[in-house]
Amino acid sequence: MSELKKQIKDDLVYFTSPQLAVYPKLRHGFFTKTGGVSTGPYESLNFRFNSQDTPENVVRNFDIAARVLGSDVHHVARTCQMHTDNIVEVTKVEEFVQMGEGSGVDALITNVPGVVLCGFYADCQLIMLYDHKHKAIGLLHAGWRGIAQEITRKTIEKMQERYGSNPNDMIAVVGPSICRSCFATDDDVPERMRETFGDMVQEYMYREGDKWRVDLKNITYAMLLRADILPYNIDISNICPCCGDKNLFWSHRRQGEERGVQAGMITLLD
Ligand SMILES: [Zn+2]
Repeated sequence: MSELKKQIKDDLVYFTSPQLAVYPKLRHGFFTKTGGVSTGPYESLNFRFNSQDTPENVVRNFDIAARVLGSDVHHVARTCQMHTDNIVEVTKVEEFVQMGEGSGVDALITNVPGVVLCGFYADCQLIMLYDHKHKAIGLLHAGWRGIAQEITRKTIEKMQERYGSNPNDMIAVVGPSICRSCFATDDDVPERMRETFGDMVQEYMYREGDKWRVDLKNITYAMLLRADILPYNIDISNICPCCGDKNLFWSHRRQGEERGVQAGMITLLD
């Protein structure tokens, strides 16, 4: 397990996984709020359409990020994140597209070079998967609801089913996401976690005053191991958007709705 690496390109700051970076036919990045064209509360690399930001700015921001990966906005397929466990296979992208519009899609997979998978994060986990043997990728959004629905395991299984992926050949990377001291909850979150994972999660949740603190990063780590991903093939960012660098991250916990959202993108090259 290694820490994600900060990359700086002009005024754009993004993070990459050392494990994924060794593959020349793969490009990826967890972008921060810097390096875009949006202004006001959305300054500057905002990916959120349903906001006061202009659609033109948001599209421009998608293009700026996609170009870092050697692509452009016309090859981007993005999620429609609604805390579901819906997974869609993307087989082609002929124009900038949102998958599962309306019903929600929180995970995307593909083995088609040139397709850029894109998802969003502002506290929740954005997780990238790469099967280096079958050259297939996955990207998914998992907040506590997604974790409780086991969207990560289901996405790994979908890649097994579609591409013959063996979890032993897969790398899993968890981007900047909320830490245990920032994630204070009521009883509902621990209850759902216990329902899904049983006693396994007990050691990742503790009581502090009248709130629970839930360590979602370690729950995901334990779950990845249970899905047969090898420990040395897992990278998890230590960074928390909520208590981390305010110049780099928007956080839902810290800021509420008046804010932008960060994106992550991953693509296979021809
Ligand atoms: Zn934190």
